[in-house]
Amino acid sequence: MPIKHRLPKENKSLTGRAVFRRPPCARIESIELTQFTDLGLAEPILRAIKAEGYTKPTPIQAEAIPTLLTGRDLVGIAQTGTGKTAAFVLPLLSRLAANPGRPEKKSARILILAPTRELAAQIAESVRVYGSQMKLTTTTVVGGVKPGGQVRALARGVDVLVATPGRLLDHMDTGAVTLRTTEAVVLDEADQMMDMGFLPAIRKVMKALPTRRQTLLFSATMPKEIRALASDFLHEPAEVSVTPVSKPAERIDQAVYFVKGDSKPRLLAEVLSGDDMDRAIVFTRTKHGADKVVRYLANEGLYAEAIHGNKSQNQRIRALEAFKSGKAPILVATDIAARGIDVDGVSHVVNFDMPNLPESYVHRIGRTARAGRSGIALSFVGNDERAYLRDIEKLIKRKIDTLDTPDESMALDLSLPEEPGPHSKQSRGRGQGGGRRQGQQPRGQTHSRSRSGGAGKGPRKGPGKPAAASSRGESNGQRSAQANANGQKRRSKPKKSWSPVS
Ligand code: AMP
Repeated sequence: MPIKHRLPKENKSLTGRAVFRRPPCARIESIELTQFTDLGLAEPILRAIKAEGYTKPTPIQAEAIPTLLTGRDLVGIAQTGTGKTAAFVLPLLSRLAANPGRPEKKSARILILAPTRELAAQIAESVRVYGSQMKLTTTTVVGGVKPGGQVRALARGVDVLVATPGRLLDHMDTGAVTLRTTEAVVLDEADQMMDMGFLPAIRKVMKALPTRRQTLLFSATMPKEIRALASDFLHEPAEVSVTPVSKPAERIDQAVYFVKGDSKPRLLAEVLSGDDMDRAIVFTRTKHGADKVVRYLANEGLYAEAIHGNKSQNQRIRALEAFKSGKAPILVATDIAARGIDVDGVSHVVNFDMPNLPESYVHRIGRTARAGRSGIALSFVGNDERAYLRDIEKLIKRKIDTLDTPDESMALDLSLPEEPGPHSKQSRGRGQGGGRRQGQQPRGQTHSRSRSGGAGKGPRKGPGKPAAASSRGESNGQRSAQANANGQKRRSKPKKSWSPVS
């Protein structure tokens, strides 16, 4: 039976999320003073970090690592981009280094559960990098590929198993793996796993683990179901939180275009042809929409790859590799597939379709401005997406600047009655395009707010364009020759540095 323990009582903020114990700025001061060598990590881990070029721990690493090294359970409230993968991988590997020993056959000493194949692959890659100075076996167990290779790898026993819940359960059912001797388990992006319907599978996995174990749960948000999961399966966990999900990185310049739905592709091509565009991720609502955007861009001479759930695992890997190497400077993705995309130097995130969940907006734009860099996030708001924008602005507690569309004919007439959001036509679950959220306007209700002093036809003047975004206006139409050359834009991998900005 799992150990039952209640988490400390949740302190609710206005948005219903846990209030963070200390303001991020107070934390940064102490982080400035912390070095990796102060955290108690084993020697081979410190060597690997040095080889990676990390100079300082990020806030979540400085807080989580010493606690995790004591063997304590932990709830981490953090988004991707905060360095949370290293925050759990480093101490777990450090504990393995301190207790070397072969894993038993058909078992894993450490289990890491992630929502998507991409994130699982990404985490496994981090494990290999951070464990490069020690003897370590790592295996990834995900769907979409034949199980034979996974079964063979599991048969020998592995130190670290990174898995998506569904495929892991399959292997448990066939007896290819048992978790009876697993020493530590990590639930990464727990809220996303819940959104994808993995909660029952996770509970089954947790019940198959030994009672004596270390359990870590990371989540960007803390809905009550995740609190309940933590309370059921974690033992007196420490709680560490950084950057609330309602707060995008300050280094991201955000702006919106109010644009007619059928003009979005044209606007996208213009935006992506800007001189300041290095590497962009474009988010669409549907898989079909992603493919359509890729085809449109190809006609415009812009090379993009699509990544979504209808692509085979190999296609997804190829698309991601092309994007990472710079061969494809544009990646068109749906929300689910975008999880775990951790690529340095993404200069732009474009919301071709607005997300219906405001938290998704924060996740999406967090794909830029990673590891201390800056970035631009542009959102295309159609007439049926204005309510989504309002929800986002409510969550992030600020109004996003408006940019003029480069050509008047693209501009949305804000005096028109608002249409219901595209998600409201479907009855899918949360995170897959769920129903309308509270506060959104019913069909046909006129939206009277004028964002920039004039709700009529024609382009609007944005109140204070973000510096980085506004330059794109001038570069419209001046398609860069580089980008036109089949999109073959290469850039060198930027040096890793971390400026601890909350
Ligand atoms: P994550 O939040 O785990 O997705 O990590 C975001 C990015 O930060 C990854 O590219 C990591 O390689 C990088 N990173 C993690 N920790 C550090 C650090 N201490 N210094 C510099 N980069 C880091």
